[in-house]
Amino acid sequence: MQTELFQKDKTNKLSSTRVGGKMTADYWENIFTAKERGKHVVWYNGAAMNPLFQAAGLEWCHGEAFAARLAAQHLEEPAQAAGAEYGYIGELCSYARTHLGCAVLTQQSRTESETGVVGLLDQKELAAKLPAPDFFVNGYAGCSTGQQWDAMTYRVFDRKLPVFNVSLPMLWGNKPDAGYMRGEEWVEVSDYAEGQLRELITFLEHQTGRPFDWDVLSESMSFIKRASELRLEAMQLCTHAPTPATYWDWVASIAPINFLPGNQALVDYFAGVKAEIEQRLRDGVSAVKDERYRVYFDGIMNWNKLGFLTRKFAEYDVSVVAGRYTHESFWQEPQLIDVDNPLRGMAQHYLLCPLNHGLKNLQELLLRRLDEYAIDGIAFHSTRTCRAMTNPQTMLAKTAERERGVKSFFFEGDVADASFYNDELFDSRLEAMLEAIDVQRTKSLV
Ligand code: SF4
Repeated sequence: MQTELFQKDKTNKLSSTRVGGKMTADYWENIFTAKERGKHVVWYNGAAMNPLFQAAGLEWCHGEAFAARLAAQHLEEPAQAAGAEYGYIGELCSYARTHLGCAVLTQQSRTESETGVVGLLDQKELAAKLPAPDFFVNGYAGCSTGQQWDAMTYRVFDRKLPVFNVSLPMLWGNKPDAGYMRGEEWVEVSDYAEGQLRELITFLEHQTGRPFDWDVLSESMSFIKRASELRLEAMQLCTHAPTPATYWDWVASIAPINFLPGNQALVDYFAGVKAEIEQRLRDGVSAVKDERYRVYFDGIMNWNKLGFLTRKFAEYDVSVVAGRYTHESFWQEPQLIDVDNPLRGMAQHYLLCPLNHGLKNLQELLLRRLDEYAIDGIAFHSTRTCRAMTNPQTMLAKTAERERGVKSFFFEGDVADASFYNDELFDSRLEAMLEAIDVQRTKSLV
């Protein structure tokens, strides 16, 4: 197979996702002025706890989101250099490493300027512009890095700022009745996680000195629930072949669903995405010219390489149609949310993080997606510094081959560190998988 990469761009990305990009950019610009506006700021990582912060009247900075944003804009180096100088090694999760570097730069700026507004001395370095936190909230499912990350950030800020750690148990799926969203284990851990959120709300009330606004929480969750329904309906339309939108379009929609405020604009955004996909189906427009292979993506994105990988897969006539990160996360079970009493459904979503399942649940989810999207192959992004995502990948590859005859390939990279990616290895492994799929198709015709 000989492909002239990037001779022409065969991708046809959704134009409606640009609206989400603008909403996200505006969100960050607003965050950068939080202190000037006298707002309380929480730094958090892990689960999408932003509706709780919205109801508490806070401004919120999601650590991974900011690290991913810097990486996607190729602006992560100053933060990573600051982190390295402080002593964080390159094997540490690159989200954490980047964000810890931001904390170092933020703290330096605050100390130097004494204005409370970060970045006046360093306006060109986006990494230094985060407003310093008033406190931290950690809510990590399926990965222990989060807790240590906040413990380190606590040290960077002179051990003075409070930290609340929401404990989210793993869904091991070991009991006979266990499965995705069912069984005794599911009920038990849902009770526990809901209790954790109630304690977090008490903490937020203490930090802000205000009663928590349950009405605001219900209202914002009603918008998020509707946005999620529209997102899933639009995703479902992409089971059509050739697909009208790809995994990369869903990556472009992560920021809005993951941390933007729950409001009408969020609903309008996903209504726009769905409308564009419906229009494409009516017009017979596909997301990748000459789709010949439908691939599932397992692993967190390589944010530095998003545009590059989008074009590269398309050059091989591959539509990446779905993925573990995009399709098993981000309010993906909206029927769980009771808008009048949303806490339990929220807790359950935090547990349903795709890093938080034992193998049995992951196998169930993967096979469901392979069938739903008529997948030919799987790209396993072996996310180098994220063990939580890579741990089960070899077993999932075996499951896909054994149960559905679906081929796969592995490539190395990382969430926010471009240095782990090797282009030649990527090409040769993808080509090998596509050739194996071709052979399989030829045999099935005999
Ligand atoms: S190691 Fe993976 S799951 Fe853990 S914080 Fe980093 S990116 Fe997230």
